[in-house]
Amino acid sequence: MNLARLLTRSATTFPDRPALLLGSRVLYDYREFARRAGALGYALTNIFGLPPGARLAVLAHNCAQYLEVLYGAWHAGLIVVPINAKLHPREVTHILRVSGAGALFTQESLLADLTAAATPLPALCVAMDGPAYPPLLQGPTRTPEHRAPSDTAWLFYTSGTTGQPKGVMQTHRNLLAMSLAYFTDVDAVEADDAILYAAPMSHGAGLYNFPYVLKAARHVVPVSGSFDETEIAALAPRVRQLGLFAAPTMVKRMTEHARRTAYDGDGINTIIYGGGPMYAADIRDAMTVLGPRFVQIYGQGECPMGITALGRDHLLDHSHPRHKERLVSVGVPQCNVEVRITGDDGTPLAAGLTGEIEVRGDTVMAGYWEDPVATAEALQNGWLRTGDVGECDADGFISLKDRSKDVVISGGSNIYPREVEEVLLLHPHVREVAVLGAPHPEWGEEVIAFIVLQPGQTPDPQSLDELCLAHIARFKRPRHYRFIAELPKNHYGKVPKTLLRTWWSTATDH
Ligand code: AMP
Repeated sequence: MNLARLLTRSATTFPDRPALLLGSRVLYDYREFARRAGALGYALTNIFGLPPGARLAVLAHNCAQYLEVLYGAWHAGLIVVPINAKLHPREVTHILRVSGAGALFTQESLLADLTAAATPLPALCVAMDGPAYPPLLQGPTRTPEHRAPSDTAWLFYTSGTTGQPKGVMQTHRNLLAMSLAYFTDVDAVEADDAILYAAPMSHGAGLYNFPYVLKAARHVVPVSGSFDETEIAALAPRVRQLGLFAAPTMVKRMTEHARRTAYDGDGINTIIYGGGPMYAADIRDAMTVLGPRFVQIYGQGECPMGITALGRDHLLDHSHPRHKERLVSVGVPQCNVEVRITGDDGTPLAAGLTGEIEVRGDTVMAGYWEDPVATAEALQNGWLRTGDVGECDADGFISLKDRSKDVVISGGSNIYPREVEEVLLLHPHVREVAVLGAPHPEWGEEVIAFIVLQPGQTPDPQSLDELCLAHIARFKRPRHYRFIAELPKNHYGKVPKTLLRTWWSTATDH
């Protein structure tokens, strides 16, 4: 079982189908896609002598070469280590070192940064946009190396919101299982469909290439190589039948852009959102402006894109008595996993009770790379402890409260920031919000809120307070509001609450 076979299979059956587009320009078909990957695989094995299981890191902005390098590496039986191009050279150095990467495929500008930072580089280091790359695609092709389903295919470094990133071992079986669940739980893919890589291919957006390779459908890399809502709105009507993965912050940007320009989502089939909380006000807004094109997924590196999904049918079922609750849930378990909620002592909880979300099944990682201690903490008795807190209702819909470390415990009561954030976002002057706990001598922790206002609005803590008092228990309302121009976001669009905590603890004016 080797993921490279997904490509050879599609290329054998549908060689003439367009495979890769840069913007709206077709670069090559499936025949050529498979040839390039096979030739690169041959070079990696036969010229550079990389043995099966060696690690090949890819440090690049989204680009036309990305997919052929991944598939070339899998042809050779290698493990790919995609690294977000926006990471600091220090972070890249760490990942290269701990993964023991024997090869690095990158881009000239990023290579210059690494060289300037004196990063120790693997013996084989190739800039994909440089002169050394094209000759690697000229040789003979090879058939994919045999791999066991349990062999690691993708070493995925977590976003590291808590400490150093850990290398999640995603196996060939994990990623095939994730792809098959995509068709059942996320979206159907037809031959004429296309996936647009707007979010980083080193993360979830890149993982979603597999369903499109399986169906011999099109892959579209935006010319900018990154997420740009103006570019997407211009590209979608020309390429048509697009699917894309977008973090909630990206969806918000698309919505605001669409509202400004009267773009209505033309050319887009599906926007899959996930990776962070999507607030009720934001998804309602997005569906009003961009149309009924949304599906939500909840996953984590340790169970890639694969824990739950909230399908279009549920998002659009306005007449359902619990539509409001479902809209802010993350949906139901995907078809090939079991999900349960456990209490502090690890026993499963009944519907409606809040605890840690655990998952088991074919998409759950094999463990963390060379880290048995962290692996034993995360995988217990066959279940993955996600570190997320949530509950399951009687219909099987899971609602995510927060990461367990983000839950605020004030005067002995648990307060879930998400609940407070949902309320504050109802205020017409509030654009973005992040709620967290800060140490308090008497209560243990108190609730504080960082608020980004809509342009031109002035802070009015009293009206926020009134809103909270009208919607949630008194003890949950923030004791302090801090108005800021912008929320910090990491490279995946997530708000690093640890950073906000540091801001708060080092500020002297409270
Ligand atoms: P990562 O492993 O970096 O992709 O981060 C995964 C974490 O992001 C999960 O454990 C959740 O805390 C959060 N997350 C992922 N999907 C969602 C979602 N649909 N809604 C809310 N939070 C999410």
